[in-house]
Amino acid sequence: MALMTGEQYRESLNDGREVYIDGERVKNVAEHPAFNPIVDIKARMYDMPHEDRYKETLTATLPDGEVISRAYNPPKSKEDLTAIRNHVETVLDDLGGVVYRVGDETIGEMWSLYDAQDKLNEINPIYADNIKYHIDRVAREDLFHVSANTDPKGDRSKLFSGKDGGTLLHVVEENDKGIVVKGAKFETAAAYAHQAFVKPTILDWAAGEETMAPFACGFICDMGSPGLKHICRTSVGQGRKEEDYPISTKFEEIDTLLIFDNVLIPWENVLFHRSLQSAAYIRSTVHRYSAFNYVLRMLRRADYLLGAATLNADQTGLTRLQAVQEKISQLINYREGINAHLTAAVANAEESPGGLIMPNQSLLYTGRVFALSNFPAMAHLTRELVGGQLAVTPDTATMSDPAIKEYIDRYYSVGEWSPEERAKLLYFARDLLNSSLAGHNTTFELFAQSPPFAQQAAVFNNFDLEPQRELVKKAAKLDVKSSVSV
Ligand SMILES: Cc1cc2nc3c(=O)[nH]c(=O)nc-3n(C[C@H](O)[C@H](O)[C@H](O)COP(=O)(O)OP(=O)(O)OC[C@H]3O[C@@H](n4cnc5c(N)ncnc54)[C@H](O)[C@@H]3O)c2cc1C
Repeated sequence: MALMTGEQYRESLNDGREVYIDGERVKNVAEHPAFNPIVDIKARMYDMPHEDRYKETLTATLPDGEVISRAYNPPKSKEDLTAIRNHVETVLDDLGGVVYRVGDETIGEMWSLYDAQDKLNEINPIYADNIKYHIDRVAREDLFHVSANTDPKGDRSKLFSGKDGGTLLHVVEENDKGIVVKGAKFETAAAYAHQAFVKPTILDWAAGEETMAPFACGFICDMGSPGLKHICRTSVGQGRKEEDYPISTKFEEIDTLLIFDNVLIPWENVLFHRSLQSAAYIRSTVHRYSAFNYVLRMLRRADYLLGAATLNADQTGLTRLQAVQEKISQLINYREGINAHLTAAVANAEESPGGLIMPNQSLLYTGRVFALSNFPAMAHLTRELVGGQLAVTPDTATMSDPAIKEYIDRYYSVGEWSPEERAKLLYFARDLLNSSLAGHNTTFELFAQSPPFAQQAAVFNNFDLEPQRELVKKAAKLDVKSSVSV
């Protein structure tokens, strides 16, 4: 096997998968207008490592000489983490935009499970072998790997008893070929990916081990598996003009409700089964690596906001005003705050239980909260700096109408900026801040790597509070022994 090309990727999607969108069954995802733009983006990502200018940054070589994507190379040093950062930034900058769930951000979830090999060995050595096999396979076959965690949840009190109809994903049968699963997951990019790592997000610990066992499974699922149905949300970019919506028409990632209608998962794809311990472990470590790639994307999002705000202020001469500079400085503070967390997470990287090198966990998770919780403030500042034209500028068809050109020229020209160039910048800013995709992405960023309360839990669980306790005990001359165990 070798690095895939964009063309091979497109062809690989034509595998008979069952995809539904806007009232139709999709014949070939790669050719459908709702998926076409994002498939083009992913195809470009597959082509990039074949180009001489990108080979060094975007590829790595396995000990046996096999060349793989740099994104799929588990980090064994700080240099490897820096190489992952360079990989993400190089890809995003070539694309000219930010895409999230395109493979590299989700691959780290398998590395987290690799770190639990000792635990998996205790349950069944075959599971430890399976995770090693899949980490190697995804790299050698250059597969587009995504992540399925979240079940659509109804009444929480009935989830596990089956009184809600058994919606939560669970094993319904075990046979000599594998396990058969039923349920559903939300999953961005599933319809145009090759495989997903499926795992539980919630278990009811009070319900007891026997009740929970069928829900405690993790596995790799081929996205063309018989019985798997992709029910996709409507595209918000489809049908828009590229000139008017330069981001929505290129960078929209389609989300899917994945239905597992008695899907057979072969034993070699089962990573754990009937194991509450593994389910709990993967939940507490799932973003150990992937949060790094995610926060790197937030950094580029911050760069686009900063650039759009500054250029808009530049064009009208407002950048000269001290008050405007202060607002731009606030954006710089946020941007550099994200950058500082990422840089420090690599500088203070830690060895993982499996012998890999992971970004410093406390700095990574606090960086994620810093980026995500400040993002609305950054967008708000940018919106303020761009001004009301963001919301009132007509689209290209009106701007280029000869009957009104005189007025457009008069009211949209400023200095060296022609009406066309000003409009281009405003359309770009609108698609960053105000369009349907901008709204969608705000929700995506809030939830895609777990909801805010879970992100705060990761911060709490990855910070050692003992030094602070000891500091105060010593300074206040406290005579207490124990700390609170949570
Ligand atoms: C655009 C988008 C793309 C997504 N892509 C994926 C994907 O690729 N893969 C995937 O697996 N999932 C994906 N998700 C799902 C996402 O991970 C979930 O939305 C998220 O985990 C929250 O789960 P939920 O939506 O079921 O909300 P709920 O669990 O119902 O929570 C809703 C809110 O209730 C409150 N709440 C609930 N439980 C608690 C608690 N224990 N403590 C405190 N507050 C609580 C919080 O305010 C929380 O935000 C995506 C979601 C979106 C919006």
